[in-house]
Amino acid sequence: MNFIDLGLNNKILKSLEEMGFEKPTLIQEQVIPHILKSKKDIVGLAQTGTGKTAAFGLPILEQININKKNIQSLILCPTRELCLQITNDIKNFSRYMPNISVEPVYGGAGIENQIKAIRKTQLVVATPGRLLDLIKRKAADISSIQYLVLDEADIMLNMGFKEELDAILATAPKNRQTLLFSATMPDEVAQIASNYMKDPVEIIAGRKNSGAENIEHLYFMVSARDKYLALKRIVDYYPEIYGIIFCRTRAGTQEIADKMIKDGYNAESLHGDLSQVQREYVMRKFREKNLQILVATDIAARGLDVKDLTHVINYDIPDESEVYTHRSGRTGRIGKTGISITIINMKEKYKIKQIERTVKKKLTETKVPNGRDICAQQLLHQIDRVKTVKIDNDQIVPYMPIIQEKLASLDRDELLKHFVSLEFNHFLDYYKNTPDLTPVKHEIKKEVEYKNKKKGIREWGQASFSYLIINLGKKDKMLPTRIIGIINQCTRNRNIKLGNIDINDDTSRIQVENSFVGEVCNALIGYKFGSKKIKVKMEEQTMGKN
Ligand code: AMP
Repeated sequence: MNFIDLGLNNKILKSLEEMGFEKPTLIQEQVIPHILKSKKDIVGLAQTGTGKTAAFGLPILEQININKKNIQSLILCPTRELCLQITNDIKNFSRYMPNISVEPVYGGAGIENQIKAIRKTQLVVATPGRLLDLIKRKAADISSIQYLVLDEADIMLNMGFKEELDAILATAPKNRQTLLFSATMPDEVAQIASNYMKDPVEIIAGRKNSGAENIEHLYFMVSARDKYLALKRIVDYYPEIYGIIFCRTRAGTQEIADKMIKDGYNAESLHGDLSQVQREYVMRKFREKNLQILVATDIAARGLDVKDLTHVINYDIPDESEVYTHRSGRTGRIGKTGISITIINMKEKYKIKQIERTVKKKLTETKVPNGRDICAQQLLHQIDRVKTVKIDNDQIVPYMPIIQEKLASLDRDELLKHFVSLEFNHFLDYYKNTPDLTPVKHEIKKEVEYKNKKKGIREWGQASFSYLIINLGKKDKMLPTRIIGIINQCTRNRNIKLGNIDINDDTSRIQVENSFVGEVCNALIGYKFGSKKIKVKMEEQTMGKN
């Protein structure tokens, strides 16, 4: 089906062509003809990224009476960002319809200018609180609206706009057509539909409460202390990543973003503690793909319209499965497969089950990539870059003689090794001797026991080590022999392979062979030395990436 078949006018068709919209999306195919022909209300189950703005925006534009300068359509949405984005989309759709005006109104900005702006406008895009304020001041008259759109209804209710919505819906004229869009259908949304809509037609773009079909859902289970290390490995495993890492709190978001920036990633944070100017700067940078990774809270990321996210990473698994649906809906957009990743600790496994029930899909448990996996991926990526790099002959040719001369001593094989090593070496160095991050309790321990039993002896020759730091040092009268004694005692395993032990004032650094790291951590954590509870952490290596 094409846009022409949907019954849209030439001016709209022209703007769609310029915007690169070739074919209508599933929801557009269903919603556009319905609005053009029927007066029946709609409940549309659709996630962000399905093309729903055009689905309701285009037919509404078709029906605006350009001879009247009153509010004919009202679009309600949860945030300022989304409000601006919808307004912008509609302005783009109507760029060849000069007599149509659309204005955004939202909280946190001067009300006087908004009052002036909406005086003669036909289409208002609003957040519920600000609109109600305008209605109460008699600055917005919605008594003649034909269309009332509730976009992201579940989020509006989640954000506590129930009272405002009730008040607005009660004021709106009875003969309006109501179009409600929501990614999920919790009871509160169903209630709005049953209280304020007449026998609505249900339109589903994708299954109800489901993740979009073209999303791969993976989860990684790691010990809580390894979460950040696992995140870095996952990001390193996908060199082409362009995605959002979701965290629960503003402070957590900033902390992860700071760590990633320090470790050399092209990342920034986006959360409510930033000023509007900072947020807009970060969003623009991300939209323009000058930023590869955005670490964000749910609220701040709302309204950020980015196409083609390759990955969504749930660094903190959301408590509500609906939030998961929203987050993962940001990847796998129109015709593209995306990957939704969740990092959990062992105690959070039950939340995966809840999410699986909501999205009606299995989330695949996946092992955190190890150093070898990551290096292989990075190497292939490097090779692809070498293969596909654009060559500007005019610029390069003059330098060729000197390049030839300088590299004359290297044969083809050596030359290739040199080029690839240039960027690849830091990954090799960083991931050399790094342990698996599989959680200790239910895998490593069993695996080690099994291997030892099977072999009778271990291969000592090729061992690789990691450092563990414990909170006992000179002040606790630690000596290397004492530490070995403690480890023997709490693991009840005399075959643990240890390397160097450095004792500092408050802490000690213990080199442990990688296959025993899990077992040692597990046994030491919480073990009491005198009155002191032992705390253990893995020494983290930092690296530059760019
Ligand atoms: P939405 O779900 O309305 O936020 O749309 C998601 C993104 O898809 C926006 O950037 C739209 O510009 C884009 N989009 C919407 N419909 C189409 C279409 N038919 N073809 C290509 N892109 C589209």
